Amino acid sequence: MTDNTSNKMPGCDEFDPNALTVEQARSRILEKVNPVCEIESLPIREALNRVLAMNVESTIDVPSHINSAMDGYAIRASDIPTDASRTLQITGTVMAGTPLTIAIAEGECARIMTGGKMPEGTDTVIMQEHVERVDDTITITAGHNPGQNVRQAGEDLARGDTVFRTGRQFTPADIGMLASMGNATTSVFRKPKVAFFSTGDELCSVGQPLGDGQIYDSNRYTLDGMLRRLDVEIIDMGIIPDQRDLIEAAFAKATAEADIVVTTGGVSVGEADFVKETMDKLGQIGFWKIAMKPGRPLAFGQVNNCLLFGLPGNPVSAMVTFYQFVQPAILGMMGIAEVLPKFLQLKTKNKLRKRPGRLEFQRGVISTATTGEMVVESTGAQGSGILSSMSEANCFIELPLECSSVEAGDTVKVQPFAGLI
Ligand code: AMP
Ligand code: MG
Repeated sequence: MTDNTSNKMPGCDEFDPNALTVEQARSRILEKVNPVCEIESLPIREALNRVLAMNVESTIDVPSHINSAMDGYAIRASDIPTDASRTLQITGTVMAGTPLTIAIAEGECARIMTGGKMPEGTDTVIMQEHVERVDDTITITAGHNPGQNVRQAGEDLARGDTVFRTGRQFTPADIGMLASMGNATTSVFRKPKVAFFSTGDELCSVGQPLGDGQIYDSNRYTLDGMLRRLDVEIIDMGIIPDQRDLIEAAFAKATAEADIVVTTGGVSVGEADFVKETMDKLGQIGFWKIAMKPGRPLAFGQVNNCLLFGLPGNPVSAMVTFYQFVQPAILGMMGIAEVLPKFLQLKTKNKLRKRPGRLEFQRGVISTATTGEMVVESTGAQGSGILSSMSEANCFIELPLECSSVEAGDTVKVQPFAGLI
């Protein structure tokens, strides 16, 4: 075989020496991504899933006072008997939120509830199940540890600690932490604005009768769903027919309003294609062939500060290229540092057919085998127009460029969809 026959291997149309790898395409895209810089202050509840724009330090100790971790009795450690037992006098009761004003002396103790502030003089809590109570006395035996069942002030968060750093995407626990520090508001980056439209004369909107040769536009709905999960600001511009002036007007409006414009359709070779033409006219755009399946053609570029993604029109290709290229760019723009898809290594239940030459994103289902181990299996038919394969799937099985078919029982790289983990 001579050098230039690599794209004409017998029975194989997969190799294209000019194609970019997925990693190359992704790093070219991520080079162009800048986080949005505008900051807004929000009530903490509204900051869920939003990205923190400045470091947060705690101005208080959490908890702010030494308190009991149990319902029981607060004592002095020096009153724990070394052998036999000891009887202590109960001189007060501490409820959570109602501290004692008197100190506890040697030979004394206080009844205390979980969260109650440890009275002066005490440092140890004996669980109520471990004492014998008679009237206003308790008897304790040996074997308790000094300092047990007590939560120290600042043991969760200490005053002055940097609790969260810029770039943190807030989880429900984080919002609780902000509340535990007493913060009513927090500063986050504004949401990126993402405009999108579908192109194609064959496309019909839901709610309209389907004309001869038409199909319903599904890409705008999958895109909308994926964007909603990312919690960005969405500008849905509808279906734009394959007409030069309408496509140009749509791009002009979209690039003026949004940080990212995503289109589907009209980037493959040899069609009445005003998407590519208009993008080319607008500015620095590259039309890439990517060594991946599905989703080979992709247009990517920049107009002023706006990033443009021309995704392929096939419904599966549009979703795959969104997850691999658009989502990392959006996460980067949101101000998140770790933008690349996360992976698991799982055994495949069935044989996965593949030819070398392109990285494949096959659709898979992760499930738990009877052994308790997580495994993956293919959804079956893998055509790029078969949207039901995406709907049935909960992950991509990523098969490397150079690999050929994979046997049942082999370990494969699995990229769970957002929402699964
Ligand atoms: P294109 O990338 O425009 O050549 O389209 C490739 C295939 O995807 C064609 O079969 C189109 O009909 C189909 N397609 C394009 N856009 C959409 C869409 N918005 N919804 C569903 N299918 C589409
Ligand atoms: Mg088209």
